[in-house]
Amino acid sequence: MGKVGFGVAVGVAVATCAVAAVMVGRRVRRRRRWTRVVAVLEEFEESCATHVGRLRQVVDAMAVEMHAGLASEGGSKLKMLLTFVDTLPNGSEKGTYYALDLGGTNFRVLQVQLGGDSSDRSAILRHDVVRQAIPPHLMTSTSEDLFDFIASSLKEFVEKEEGFSELSAVKRMELGFTFSFPVKQMSVLSGILIKWTKGFAIEDMVGRDVSECLQQAMSKIGLNMRVAALVNDSVGTLALGHYQDEDTVAAVIIGTGTNACYLERADAIIKCQGLLTTSGCMVVNMEWGNFWSSHLPRTSYDVDLDANSPNPNDQGFEKMVSGMYLGEIVRRVILRMSEESDSFGPVASRLSEPFTLRTPLMAAMHGDESPELREVARILKDDLEIPDVPLKVRKLIVKVCDVVTRRAARLAAAGIVGILKKIGRDGSGGITSGRTKGQQKFRRTVVVVEGGLYTNYSMFREYLDEAVTEILGDEISPHVILKHTEDGSGIGAALLAAAYSSPNVDTVQLL
Ligand code: ADP
Ligand code: MG
Repeated sequence: MGKVGFGVAVGVAVATCAVAAVMVGRRVRRRRRWTRVVAVLEEFEESCATHVGRLRQVVDAMAVEMHAGLASEGGSKLKMLLTFVDTLPNGSEKGTYYALDLGGTNFRVLQVQLGGDSSDRSAILRHDVVRQAIPPHLMTSTSEDLFDFIASSLKEFVEKEEGFSELSAVKRMELGFTFSFPVKQMSVLSGILIKWTKGFAIEDMVGRDVSECLQQAMSKIGLNMRVAALVNDSVGTLALGHYQDEDTVAAVIIGTGTNACYLERADAIIKCQGLLTTSGCMVVNMEWGNFWSSHLPRTSYDVDLDANSPNPNDQGFEKMVSGMYLGEIVRRVILRMSEESDSFGPVASRLSEPFTLRTPLMAAMHGDESPELREVARILKDDLEIPDVPLKVRKLIVKVCDVVTRRAARLAAAGIVGILKKIGRDGSGGITSGRTKGQQKFRRTVVVVEGGLYTNYSMFREYLDEAVTEILGDEISPHVILKHTEDGSGIGAALLAAAYSSPNVDTVQLL
């Protein structure tokens, strides 16, 4: 071999070694990155742990906070608001009533026709609903804009239902108004907005009477309708639940936001001495979205989400549990993963935008059963603009969805058992309504659950139901029934409008 030939051979060998070294280097770097991505997930999963021992601590904390919130105004992050609902509908209600249900994402208008046969708990002859999304610009506009819009949608609905006639202009109609934000009630039909949640921010509304705002908007357009009951969604849901099944003691909402209410003994509401109700009970609106306890498994992603929200240090439980936030938590974890890996390409700008991953999309990824996770790939490409994410990374993303949903559902389950504990229906003492020799007799206890997250996200629902059983144990759990309702928050408000516009109903007195 001549000198030139030798030189070429050496050159080729050096180049080959260099290429090999680069390739090995790349592979090592890729493996390192992959390890870091996996570590992000593992660390997240660990800090989201909700083993049953921790859930029981949350149960206890919920019951303790409920006591504190009932003992004094401001005694707990749980406001434990009086609703002035002391009588739940019993089936004797008769006639046609309307309801307006303003949630966080949707609003619904309903007409409910009641047969008045109290022996038949299915005496709702029929109900009609129209659902509409709340135009986002109205969430931060003025109260006048919001209520003008709502009143005109209501009028349009009434005209369609009644076949607009002279009659509907003369006959006054009764309305149940479901307004799902914290309200300090003055009576069953009026109350003042305490604060906005779920992304609403209409400053001129805070401190104003919600019913009056609607009443004014309805009068302005000549709609002859009276707000006969102002309730939040959980109270409406409890009313329907109780109407259908007398063993119903509590209602829980898990939709855009989350909340719960339950039937409490009037004498347990210590902060309101001298509360006189005919039934001896009152529905208490917990506003549990604001529940907080050091036992909640909080991660750095929750801390950041809260800090960047319009209401920091507020609605802590809601931010871990409800539909408005679950997709956003997942987005934050994926963003962190993408910062550790090149599998996502250059960090996609849409992934950096808050709230781009809505919870229904997260649920669709979570529910993807195709072996190659086609739906996950499609959502990443179409909604987050990240094409070509490898299958092994897509699997990690599904796992993130699972961790977030599992934690949310299990915490909600602990909240439910917390309520049962407070009213002695968790089997830890008070559930025994009578003892037969050597055998405890447990009272059947029904909790109604409603809301878009619980209704539409089957994995969430399964995790929640399973965790309630796990916390209560095999002996008690068969006696506790979770019932799922739809449109209960609206139908229940119409039932309450019927119950409270009847002249026979005593009103609550505060002595
Ligand atoms: P609102 O809270 O406005 O009264 P809903 O109870 O219908 O309305 O809940 C709507 C919320 O439910 C949405 O904001 C979303 O977070 C959640 N949701 C709706 N559909 C799904 C779905 N398919 N999967 C997961 N979550 C869903
Ligand atoms: Mg709702």
